[in-house]
Amino acid sequence: MTAKRTLDLDDTLYDYVLAHSLREHAAQRALREATDALPHAGMQIGPDQAQFMALLVRLIGARRTIEIGVFRGYSALAIALALPDDGYMLACDVSDAYTRGARAFWEAAGVAHKIDLVLAPARKTLDARIAAGDAGTFDFAFIDADKTSYDDYYERCLVLLREGGVIAVDNVLWSGDVARPAKSADTAALQAFNDKLHDDARIDLSLLPIGDGLTLARKR
Ligand code: CA
Repeated sequence: MTAKRTLDLDDTLYDYVLAHSLREHAAQRALREATDALPHAGMQIGPDQAQFMALLVRLIGARRTIEIGVFRGYSALAIALALPDDGYMLACDVSDAYTRGARAFWEAAGVAHKIDLVLAPARKTLDARIAAGDAGTFDFAFIDADKTSYDDYYERCLVLLREGGVIAVDNVLWSGDVARPAKSADTAALQAFNDKLHDDARIDLSLLPIGDGLTLARKR
């Protein structure tokens, strides 16, 4: 039967996808493998998703980007590699412990000069940029941080993006929990967020079942 819906990716098929598509810089691979050995490695996006987002960044010709939730710097590295040499990423995180090792990998890949890591609550960082007159000046944003704040991050990114800019939002399927009665504040927040975006006339929308679910919202 020809499947109209997304295939179930078992390990064999996922390995095939990686074997036939992945083009990682040596620094990306080194960072990914270093993180896989650490606690909370599941917070790192998959390499197929990182490459997809890097392609998306190239497709829209992004020069100025935002990342909310840097963790160990793998997604930032993938996106920075896709930016032109004078590209810029405002990278927001609150954890020095998580992000401390990232710069060495960014430097190894020659993209550290594009990444402006700001260790502060992202709401505050984004509000400061809006107040400074940066509304409408960014091309791409990736939201992958505390789920109960997604709506706050989304609203601020929508202000900071130009028309035609894209916001990518991670973990919107939350291991499938969003389709069941919520048992946590995170699940409830993601359900409300997904409901809101479905009806949000300010964006064009696609919810992709890649990784743990990735929503793409294009600002109209
Ligand atoms: Ca994530």
